[in-house]
Amino acid sequence: MPPLSLPRMCIFRYKNKDSFQGLATWCSAIHTDCGTWSLSSGRLSNKAQFLKTTSDSVSLARTARQVWGRRSTTPYMCYTTSSNDDRTDWLWSEYNEIKSQTEALVPVILRNSVNPDTIFANNEMSLHDIEIYGFDYDYTLAFYSSHLHTLIFNIARDILIEEHRYPEGLREYEYIPNFVVRGLHYDVQKALLMKIDAFHYIQLGTVYRGLHPVPDKEVIAMYEGSHVPLEIMSDFYGKSSHGHTMKQFMDIFSLPEMNLLCCVNDYFMKHNIDYEPVHLYKDVKQAIGDVHVKGKMYRAVEADIEKYICYGEQTHAVLKKLSENGKKMFLITNSPFDFVDRGMNYIVGKDWRDLFDIVIVQADKPGFFNDRRKPFRRVTDRGVLWDRIHHLEKGQIYKQGNLYEFLRLTGWMGNKVLYFGDHIYSDLADLTLRHGWRTGAIIPELRKEIKIMNTEEYIHTMSWLQGLTGLVERMQVYRDPASQAVVQQWIEEREDIRSRTKDIFNSQFGSLFRTYHNPTYFSRRLSRFADIYMASISCLLNYDLQHTFFPRRTPLQHEASLWPEQCSAGGVGAPHLS
Ligand SMILES: [Mg+2]
Repeated sequence: MPPLSLPRMCIFRYKNKDSFQGLATWCSAIHTDCGTWSLSSGRLSNKAQFLKTTSDSVSLARTARQVWGRRSTTPYMCYTTSSNDDRTDWLWSEYNEIKSQTEALVPVILRNSVNPDTIFANNEMSLHDIEIYGFDYDYTLAFYSSHLHTLIFNIARDILIEEHRYPEGLREYEYIPNFVVRGLHYDVQKALLMKIDAFHYIQLGTVYRGLHPVPDKEVIAMYEGSHVPLEIMSDFYGKSSHGHTMKQFMDIFSLPEMNLLCCVNDYFMKHNIDYEPVHLYKDVKQAIGDVHVKGKMYRAVEADIEKYICYGEQTHAVLKKLSENGKKMFLITNSPFDFVDRGMNYIVGKDWRDLFDIVIVQADKPGFFNDRRKPFRRVTDRGVLWDRIHHLEKGQIYKQGNLYEFLRLTGWMGNKVLYFGDHIYSDLADLTLRHGWRTGAIIPELRKEIKIMNTEEYIHTMSWLQGLTGLVERMQVYRDPASQAVVQQWIEEREDIRSRTKDIFNSQFGSLFRTYHNPTYFSRRLSRFADIYMASISCLLNYDLQHTFFPRRTPLQHEASLWPEQCSAGGVGAPHLS
């Protein structure tokens, strides 16, 4: 118990209505939606009292906020105490009590795991309004096994050796699964791979040169801190061009490219070979591009389709459902027709083209969405024709073209069209910003990350991290050396927990969506360009076609979070696992 001279602090902590925001945000982030207790008279005395009521979707976040309330509105508390020992004893008793209450909260959160098949909304959108559904192909309709990454890596590595005269010793490198995550930035000049947050700050501990981390001190010296100025960030589409020295890797096909960059860098450093990082980046980029352009990947997948395409996803059922409900459908993909045809035959069946009103291949996205110059060409069994296209007809195949012509020929404009793709920039950005179509992002990594967030280990760790952070925030006001020594211990413990929460997702780079507390750069772009996002197109099967997706109203930093909180996204139609 705290000294009697500190009653105001105790009451303040549980009764101050403005101090609860941090936990609410976190509870919202993990989509908890149950657990009620009533706060009627100051602090709770024990776990039993703490957990005595249940099953109200409004109150778990409120409860957590009350336990972990973080924002002290009174920066300097007046207190008297007989000695430093008393004060440190009291600080540790507070620590133990918060820890105990946090642990009591874990089972409640655990009972409300998030369904990985939920569709999450960034922007309100009703399927009732959608008349036309459009799709990208790779990683939207077709999902690939990890064998494909190994295949791309091996072909590109061999192109480097055989066509760009890179050292034969590179053949000792194999694709390393789970080494990198999507959305990372690569500094082309410095040959460094790293994760950057929504505010352009590098997440220290996630900077890699080759296959090894770069010490934080070195990173801070190179970038004069950890902030990356706008002028050297990647351009709008994530590319390194026109003075931008950063490249952002945004699609799933880029995992083998990042892997290869790291391996070649590693080889050069290990053998003390002097090399130019810019040349290396461009050569690897070209080799990876050649894997697609020269058709090696397409031929390999077509030859052994069962090895490379995951049939588990229910693409066929989704397309059938939309068709049965009278929806128009179209496909716009950068892949060539033979490759798409082989895959769709496998996934959907020989009659797959009957489901689509328009099929466009080799579209050259994102240029397709913003370059008016390329006309459509018709693809036939006899080859590509040269006649002018006046109509886009069902049953025909077209290549190239552009969206302006597409809109003119179809009249499919505005928010009655929903387009799905996995590449946040190439598939979705222009549609959102220029053309007003609704957009859906396919993020297969969500399934793995949500499953991790549903584990007891993760919930326990994150709960305590939030509790500890709130404790540090409130107790930092005690400036005497003995108290500060205690707070410093907590800060060090917090740093250790932050590092472990990163490692739970990926030892090198952590979660795709967060850098510790902040959203990643990837997350920021995702929330800007996608109205809804989900792990797979199959998630649509959980909803009827009248469903409206509502984003949760999470409080802004200056807003009090007193009103009842909305159930988590997907609370209707794709319920929590419990
Ligand atoms: Mg794709």
